Amino acid sequence: MAKHGYTYSAGKLLKHGLSSGAWPRMWRRPEARSSYDVAIIGGGLHGLATAYYLAKEHGITNVAVLDKGYLGGGGSGRNTAIVRSNYLTPEGVAFYDRSLDLYNTMAQDLNLNVMFSRRGHLTLAHTDSALRTMHWRAEVNKLQGIDSSVIDEHEVKKQAPSLDTSKDTRYPILGALYHPPGGIVRHDAVVWGYARAADHLGVHLLQETEVLDILCEDGEGPEGKGAGGRVTGVRTNRGDISAPAVVNCTAGWASLLSNMAGVTLPITTHPLQAAVTEPCKVFLPTVVVSGSLHVYVSQTDRGELVFGASVDPVGTYRVNGTLEFTEELAGHVLELMPGISKMRLLRQWSGLCDMTPDYSPVMGTTQVDGYFVDVGWGTYGFKAGPVAGETMAETIATGRDADLIAPFHISRFTEGDLVGEKGAAAVGH
Ligand SMILES: Cc1cc2nc3c(=O)[nH]c(=O)nc-3n(C[C@H](O)[C@H](O)[C@H](O)COP(=O)(O)OP(=O)(O)OC[C@H]3O[C@@H](n4cnc5c(N)ncnc54)[C@H](O)[C@@H]3O)c2cc1C
Repeated sequence: MAKHGYTYSAGKLLKHGLSSGAWPRMWRRPEARSSYDVAIIGGGLHGLATAYYLAKEHGITNVAVLDKGYLGGGGSGRNTAIVRSNYLTPEGVAFYDRSLDLYNTMAQDLNLNVMFSRRGHLTLAHTDSALRTMHWRAEVNKLQGIDSSVIDEHEVKKQAPSLDTSKDTRYPILGALYHPPGGIVRHDAVVWGYARAADHLGVHLLQETEVLDILCEDGEGPEGKGAGGRVTGVRTNRGDISAPAVVNCTAGWASLLSNMAGVTLPITTHPLQAAVTEPCKVFLPTVVVSGSLHVYVSQTDRGELVFGASVDPVGTYRVNGTLEFTEELAGHVLELMPGISKMRLLRQWSGLCDMTPDYSPVMGTTQVDGYFVDVGWGTYGFKAGPVAGETMAETIATGRDADLIAPFHISRFTEGDLVGEKGAAAVGH
């Protein structure tokens, strides 16, 4: 048996496939204990990665990950799998770049091929002001050693020949921010890899376990909740579980859960839709984003085009697809790539995004002792999963906000110290 899982030789694999023998489970289905050292709410990438690094880096293995549904059933299994680190603020760039480092070695670390395709990332500029923002980002990026530069429309054409770079279009392409280390990763493999590795280290993964309340004492609010209080555990549909540390990793549901601890989050939940075409021969070698046209596109290894946009304008917990999205998406994509007008969309889907006012996450300790948050992931939390897990684990183990996430503390909203990432995160996830 290999690190975090099983390895088979080709012969063994074939023999096993042809026999009626059961495949080994990726992770166990344990009975819940009545108490854990850490209870993590949310079995998406963030909850699983936090559990994994708690066990691996800090030896804290008496940990439960609780999910009301199945692992990866939230945004972690619905995203468009884009990773990059060319953000706008120095705090954001340093944070997301550490995540790219972890993605680079993930296949070895988790012993699972997560299909990281480092194919480059282009953010198009259609106006002079957009070009100015690209230059700003490129300079911030370069100062921190990130491979990121502004290229002109001729270079854009070389990177993505299917883009219409002629001058007489409605939204002419003036140039782009080019970020070679960006790319796509198979999102469900990342979830499975962390789940299997965490399970292997002793973490309990409790699916179909819904948290109905967060239990607290000594706080200023009703039932001892809120500022000055401390967490004692969670109430679930399967009974109470005591834990001195409770972590909220519930993304789209984050503010509902946080209210249970008496901690109000500056978060609104919006759906984000995406769509995929039928497969065709690979012709798009890089990820392309257009902030002005509210659209981005990449091509999977199977040849499908995966499209996304910005969040739906109305805050809601519904995840229905809408015709408005499809119509707008098709119109905008064809402005960029008229040559794909005959391709058919196969399906569209949607997930929930927890948006903060400054488009940066809310992470770390809170005013309630033992209650930690890793939320506000909006449309950009997939790429951040590994570093969020690593830094949250350090914060929980030491009781002190890890350096990389200190700027994302909840107190920034009362102290007026926002980390404004809208210019780099509104459309290009
Ligand atoms: C269409 C779409 C495209 C996206 N594209 C990208 C992209 O290209 N790049 C990128 O970086 N990011 C992208 N994102 C954002 C990214 O998917 C999310 O930020 C990320 O997946 C959040 O991960 P998470 O683990 O924090 O939360 P999730 O994966 O959403 O997990 C939260 C979990 O909490 C569980 N839960 C909720 N309430 C309870 C409860 N009461 N009790 C127990 N469990 C509960 C849910 O069942 C869920 O499984 C996209 C999102 C969407 C929707």
